[in-house]
Amino acid sequence: MRAARLHAARDVRIDEIATPEAGPGEVLVRVRAVAICPSDLRLYQDGHASGVVPDHPMIQGHEFSGEVAALGEGVEGPPVGTRVAIEPSWHCGKCDLCRAGYQNLCRNVIFPSFPQRDGALAEYIACPDFSVGVLPDSVGFIEGALIEPLGVGIHAVRLSEATPADRIAVLGAGTIGMSVMLVLKARGVEQIALAEPIEGRQEWPRELGVDPIAASHQELLDDEVEADIVFECSGNNEAVEQAMRLARPAGRVVVVGIPHPDEVTFDSTVPRRRELTVVFSRRSRDTLEEGIELIATGAVDMASLPVRMYSLEQTAEAMEATASRPGDMLRAVVEP
Ligand SMILES: [Zn+2]
Ligand SMILES: [Zn+2]
Repeated sequence: MRAARLHAARDVRIDEIATPEAGPGEVLVRVRAVAICPSDLRLYQDGHASGVVPDHPMIQGHEFSGEVAALGEGVEGPPVGTRVAIEPSWHCGKCDLCRAGYQNLCRNVIFPSFPQRDGALAEYIACPDFSVGVLPDSVGFIEGALIEPLGVGIHAVRLSEATPADRIAVLGAGTIGMSVMLVLKARGVEQIALAEPIEGRQEWPRELGVDPIAASHQELLDDEVEADIVFECSGNNEAVEQAMRLARPAGRVVVVGIPHPDEVTFDSTVPRRRELTVVFSRRSRDTLEEGIELIATGAVDMASLPVRMYSLEQTAEAMEATASRPGDMLRAVVEP
């Protein structure tokens, strides 16, 4: 099969490699759409992911959908040809954290695209059967790929324990910030203040009815916005501290964005005096079914989010487009 493999930082090549087989308990998926996540850029640009260096040319990509191509031993479905989406946090189901319901924090978790497990920027990928969800006819492959970031939003909203009465502030209207807002809206939350500095990215929240929109986190602070819950979705270094400043006493801050570089510093006075609860959100757990349902029922509209399409050969271009954070695109989507 053809695969886009990262040989070194910013060095993607289309290689002909052996097609994987569906092992016991696995489903072989013919990949149809892969959305490029800003978290993919860490490995692409730095050549390592938080210090973990690939031991082979890596296939990246973890937000994907496709069709079932083969079933491994002991797997009874879904039938070959079925259109599917995948939750790419593959847990062992046996460790103490899995048994306690924290599958996303599994001690033996495998995340395709994080070294050393290959991801989906290829014609085929073998996935554990429990990670595969059937897409209804009304849900396309691009939306199918976007169910992964939607799942990140679902998980973050669950951690926030938001109710319709809560006043929310969201920092960053990228795909994750949009996912958080879409899920909040679907749950009847109306009061959302948003800060997004990239001009083009202020349009889609407006269509969602999210107002007021500030161009910077500081603007929300100057407006004296006080929120019961703040979602930090920008991955910006100062944003964690600003999120705390936006939260009311005894409020909650959910950090969803992945800071790049990894280190975050903040003045502890505000969270201490306000006795804030700060929650760091990790990927998603058990969100696939809800994500498919939210899209299929029309409660969440992922199809309107602006994407740009690329072929497998254009994977490097898709990565570079993601890195440039254009105002008119939320995800670059590769069709292998
Ligand atoms: Zn992602
Ligand atoms: Zn486990």
